[in-house]
Amino acid sequence: SAAVEAVRGLTPGPGGDEVQLICHVSPDGDALGSMLGFALALHARGITRLRATFPGDFELPTPYQDMPGTELLVPEAEAFPAPQLVMTFDVAAESRLGELVRLLEAPCVVVLDHHASNTRFGRVNLVDPRAAATSVVVDGLLSRLGFPLDPRIAECLYIALATDTGSFKFDMTTPEVHELAARLIATGISPGDISRRIFDSKPFGAMKLTSEVLERATLDRAAAGGRGMVWTYATQDDLARHDQRPYVLDTLIDPVRSVAEADVAVVIKESPGGDWAVSLRSKGAVDVSRLAVSLGGGGHRLAAGFTGRGSPAEVAATVRSRLEANLI
Ligand code: 5GP
Ligand code: MN
Ligand code: MN
Repeated sequence: SAAVEAVRGLTPGPGGDEVQLICHVSPDGDALGSMLGFALALHARGITRLRATFPGDFELPTPYQDMPGTELLVPEAEAFPAPQLVMTFDVAAESRLGELVRLLEAPCVVVLDHHASNTRFGRVNLVDPRAAATSVVVDGLLSRLGFPLDPRIAECLYIALATDTGSFKFDMTTPEVHELAARLIATGISPGDISRRIFDSKPFGAMKLTSEVLERATLDRAAAGGRGMVWTYATQDDLARHDQRPYVLDTLIDPVRSVAEADVAVVIKESPGGDWAVSLRSKGAVDVSRLAVSLGGGGHRLAAGFTGRGSPAEVAATVRSRLEANLI
């Protein structure tokens, strides 16, 4: 395929081609894991003029600080100014790249992703909406390139897969997902250690913050044609009072989406700039990706997001009114 040719065409070594890997803003386990897993595989094949980065402050969520390959990460200001090849990981749209959108002027841009809403902004677009994570797409490309897995690459891809499948619980958890997980574990990585580090290591302050945010949740049983919506919000002040880092807000959707009386869960998270990053989750009947796209965002059918403005109650009301129009 064109992606295989783009990678095979690279000149390796210290005088070789420059390759810039990028992932989406507020990177999650799939964004970082698929990017760093591929970075390590390229590096092992002699593509050493290689940098990986993500938009915004150079601050990794604590759970991902020990991920293999972080030594290849640079702050966005240190991205190559004019790389021969740019590859994007888990990036659904140019709007998810912040300042790094300038890199899309590179002679070759390869997009690796699994969002149905992907806008195909690359020259080569390897987008598989049936893939549970971008790391599944990465694994496919590595196989076609003949690049072998090693334990460090496998750990990155495993973290990506475990994150995006909710630890192998979500609908996308196919036989292929378990087959990939089996191949990754067979390299010798430890799923127990990885899961403890990624999912079960929250600071005490994060628990207290979560408790406050859950306390202010609202259950709207009539929303979504009676299917129900539960929503809450979290502010920068919540983070400051509990001395917590921004990524903690991204973990709040998990307890909220477990509410039985609501098919749709919404967490409205204040951004440092003052607007709101809105996380949407559906249990099945409602396509929250369509809803998010109609509000300028994107995502998957059952997990999506957009940028909201106004008060949290206003953002929730906007979602509620869109839900009436978006039921399938
Ligand atoms: P999360 O709620 O975990 O931040 O995001 C859920 C899904 O929706 C992810 O796949 C993410 O890429 C996508 N998503 C979240 N916010 C946005 C947004 O503002 N724009 C787009 N295009 N996708 C988003
Ligand atoms: Mn992601
Ligand atoms: Mn993903």
